[in-house]
Parts: sequence; C-alpha cells; structure tokens
Amino acid sequence: MTHHPLRLRIDGQALVSNWRWLAARSGAAACGAAVKANGYGIGAAEVATRLLAAGCRDFFVATWNEADTLLPLLGDASLSVLHGFQEEDLGRAAVSGARPVLNTPLQVRRWREAGGGRPCDVMLDSGMNRLGLSPADVATGLLDGLTIETLMSHLACGDEDADMNMRQRDRFAELAATIPARRRSLANSAGICLGPNYLFDLTRPGIALYGGIPRAEAAGGIRRVVRLDAQIVQRRRAEAGECVGYNATFTAAQPVELAVLNLGYADGYLRGFSSRGQAWFEGAALPVVGRVSMDLTTISVDISPDLAEGDWVEIDYDLVSAAAQSGLSQYELLTVLGNRHARVWT
Ligand SMILES: *Cc1c(COP(=O)(O)O)cnc(C)c1O
Repeated sequence: MTHHPLRLRIDGQALVSNWRWLAARSGAAACGAAVKANGYGIGAAEVATRLLAAGCRDFFVATWNEADTLLPLLGDASLSVLHGFQEEDLGRAAVSGARPVLNTPLQVRRWREAGGGRPCDVMLDSGMNRLGLSPADVATGLLDGLTIETLMSHLACGDEDADMNMRQRDRFAELAATIPARRRSLANSAGICLGPNYLFDLTRPGIALYGGIPRAEAAGGIRRVVRLDAQIVQRRRAEAGECVGYNATFTAAQPVELAVLNLGYADGYLRGFSSRGQAWFEGAALPVVGRVSMDLTTISVDISPDLAEGDWVEIDYDLVSAAAQSGLSQYELLTVLGNRHARVWT
C-alpha cells in the first residue's frame, strides 16, 4: 500500500451512534442523513453504507453527480437531490431513482413535462430566502396535481435561540397544510435539537452525524467522529532571536525545539490556525508556531524531547475547539479537508 503521510481516523461506530441519537430525538419522525459534499468531506459512500445498515432510509445530496455515485449503494432507500435540476440535468433526473427537490416555478413546470408523473420533493421558502417556492408561487396553483413525496423547508437560525425559528416553523406548517404531500420535513441537526415542534414527519441531519455540535443540547449525546494525524518531516531547533515560517511572524524569545508537520492549507488546515492551532502528543499540547504554509505547519515540541522525524502527532481537530482557534465553522472544518489524507475507518 502506498504511504499516506496524513491520516483522518474516522470512527464508524460514533457515526452510527450519532445517527441513532438523532433518530431517537426525532421521535415518531423518520431520521434521514445529509451526505452532500462527499458526506461533509468524510466519504459519502462509506457514510451512507453504514447508516443504511443502521436503518436510515432517507438520504440527501446536492447534485446529480453526487446522486449517481451513491444511488447504486442505496438499495430501495430514498435519495433526494436538493438543488433540483438545471435543464442540462433533466435527462438523467427523469430516469433516475433519485428524486429532485423542486425549488423554482421553472423546475416545477419542467418536471410536469419530463417527470411522467413520478414523485418529486418540493422545497418551500419559509423566510431564509435561499432555495424554495414562495407562498405566492404556491397560491397560483403551481403544485396542483404533482405527486409530492416530501415537502420541505430549511431553518436559517436553528443553531441560535432566535424568534425566527418559530416564525419559520409556523409559516412552513401553514403553507404545507394547503399542499398534498406524503411527508413534511423541516429540521436539520440544529432543528432536531429545537424539539418536537420542529420534527414533522422526517428530519435531515448532517453536521451532527459527523460529530458537529450545532447546539448545547447535542453536547452530551453527539460523539466525536473525525481525528486528524500528521507526520513529522523534520525536527529542528531555533535559537533565541531566530524566526519561523513565512513572513517571520514568530521570533523565538529563547531557544525553541520545533517539529515541522506535513500538513498545510492545501490539506484544509487553513491559515487561521497560524500561531493558534495545536497538536497533541501523549497528552501534551504542542502549539502551532508561525504561519501555516501550503503543505507544512510548524509546532513547538519543547515539552516532547522524544518526538522525532517520522513520528505522528494528533492535530487538535475537535470541531468546537478548532472552530474557536481558526474562526472557521464546524461545517467548513470538515468540508475543506483535502484529498491527501488517508481516510481510515476505525
Ligand atoms: C445541508 C442541509 C441539511 C443538513 O443540515 P445540517 O445543519 O448539517 O444538519 C438539511 N437540509 C438541507 C436543505 C440542507 O441543505
């Protein structure tokens, strides 16, 4: 096997445990899984296979390329394509086992012509002004006669205690009551945490499956899924007054022992971790020193005299603390991880 000098350790049991926790919090509603963006960077096929085995029957991707990759793995489970389709996708959408989520009046009209009466999903805008039909679109009778499997909307502020959550919930319930559909769905991960009013018939968690903590309610129940390891390329010592890395942003006040890791912003370890991130070795925290560069990051290893070239350290990639260090969201932290990591399922 080729050597991968970077490693994501992905805990398959924690992934399944997180889905079960979200399914339990979803009460009588079915609990699905958002696996868009390659399963939030982790590996959509591996994620979907494990969740399917655990009992998940509803999957969500953004695009038809994502759908085509996953559909053969999903058996008779349901797969929805959140962006609906463009004219260029219509041919494959019309024959796919996946359902488009219709977002615009044009998508609805095209689906009437091309869909042959097959079921679709429909996104309603309840105040986010991102994707979805407006109440005015619906009032024109646009949806009359369509076979709608899932009617959905999406929360803008589910991760906050905002009045907007209840407003969106009420708007969605009111509008959905006028439209025949087999199921209604509003909640993402944060929405599940908001409680029974938000659950409807189907939930669509993403980030919490992968160990993200969207709200305090999830903190005890959601387990860590992803760990990140990097290998030491070189160990060195900088004398007092010497500086480290691009733009010499760090100058040693006293002699400092350094280890240079084969991890950089091209691997998703973005520059916001410069002088703010840290690595772990046998319980010791090893701070990032100076700028993160494209393929390399330097840490201080003063307290770990035995660490040598070729040894591995764990990067502090706990999503909550890494978000605080870097200024990135938990979503960005997962989806920016690049292709140079071996993805090792444990
Ligand atoms: C991405 C997405 C989800 C999942 O959201 P999380 O916040 O990751 O749980 C659910 N629904 C829609 C429409 C989405 O785009």
